[in-house]
Amino acid sequence: MLRRYLLLTLGFVVAGVACWGCLVRAEDLFYDIRLAISPEWELNGLVTIHGTAAADLEELVLRVYQPEELSVSSIEVDGIAQNWTKDAQEPSVLRVHTPLTREQTYSLTAEFSGRVPLFHDQSGYGTFAASEHAVVLGAAYPMLAAWDDAWLTGPLLPWGDAVVADVADYRLTMEAPKGWEVVSGGYEIPLGNNVTLVEGQNLRELGIVLVKGYVVQSAEFKSVSIRSFSLPEHSAGSREAFRITGEALQLYEALFGPYPYGTLDVVSVPLQWAAGVEYPGLILGGELYYARWEYEPLFFPMIFAHEVAHQWWYAQVGNHQVNEPWVDEALATYSSGLYFEAKGRLEEIVAYWQNSYQLGRRRNPHAMVDSPLWGFADGAGYGGIVYSGGALMLHDIRAHMGDELFLAALRSYLGAHRWGFAWGDDLLRAFAAHSPPSLDAVLARWLSR
Ligand SMILES: [Zn+2]
Repeated sequence: MLRRYLLLTLGFVVAGVACWGCLVRAEDLFYDIRLAISPEWELNGLVTIHGTAAADLEELVLRVYQPEELSVSSIEVDGIAQNWTKDAQEPSVLRVHTPLTREQTYSLTAEFSGRVPLFHDQSGYGTFAASEHAVVLGAAYPMLAAWDDAWLTGPLLPWGDAVVADVADYRLTMEAPKGWEVVSGGYEIPLGNNVTLVEGQNLRELGIVLVKGYVVQSAEFKSVSIRSFSLPEHSAGSREAFRITGEALQLYEALFGPYPYGTLDVVSVPLQWAAGVEYPGLILGGELYYARWEYEPLFFPMIFAHEVAHQWWYAQVGNHQVNEPWVDEALATYSSGLYFEAKGRLEEIVAYWQNSYQLGRRRNPHAMVDSPLWGFADGAGYGGIVYSGGALMLHDIRAHMGDELFLAALRSYLGAHRWGFAWGDDLLRAFAAHSPPSLDAVLARWLSR
């Protein structure tokens, strides 16, 4: 995600492949979802999650990331109805008490329903919201919590990214109102009668958007099909978003390794408090920025260069976005800096980070780059410290290591954790393993550890 911080007179305002063989993931998780959405934005769904127990388990843990809007009415495991409990402190956590032995396969089916709020009636980013021309369905289904020797949960906060999930294959059958087109992180296959089949592999979550009256610009970049969607009046911004996305994708492929999906869709939607949001294979860009892209020569490209980088740092290497949001955000922000550097604009982006970091420190003097999401009450200082400070930290690390070893460390981190889960210590270990000089003094400046 990319947010924007501006100090105005009114005070604080947020405006806001090839090589499939080398990209195969180790464990099998498969989501089979049926979703039907009415013209009044009532949502009815059924999800079946096919998985294999990673250990002897007492329970399966589900996350419902829209706990106010979506409710689960029944859960079955292998065809047997289950009781479940909702955590008192954290209603997004559902615990299904079904003992499983290590390597036992299971199928969990949950029935759920709810309503998608209107964009103007909701207070979030707009990632689960309906407007006249776009319905964003982020985290629109119950997800299995990620597993890393324990179920990974965490508080659901109104700022930052919430989803902590394992990579899975997906099949979605989506019934949308007449005249709406489905755009998603997978491949869409229209089946007729307003039903679309979506299939995707290796997705950490399935982002879905319904659009109406949009125009699309598309082209192939080597083996990747990029499509950019917007309202007709925003097609100039959409063309620019398309161009930046293609350039960033090619740069990151050269620096880090192949983009792992066959498609990448970029969609202009109404967003508030966020300028861009990432899903595997899908990027949302804030519509307001499309309307004035030519007045944002630094920030507009930053949105897409940042979100494209999340296709490596988040989609491929997962991390705990609540406990350690810096891990993917610092990498995505710094990668966007590499995009500007390739354009001869490194000094400009470093100056932006320095300014933004100073503002962040003023707003939240106690937080550090590696503070958890809850260390930034109401999001205060979050972008400045975690994104810009995190990027400045990586810039320092690179200066100590040299370009070649810095990129070698990133590639080794990606290779070791692709389709898995990494912690901040894994990233720091990758740098340490490739760095002849000690990085301790550098890290002490930025991190609380
Ligand atoms: Zn981000």
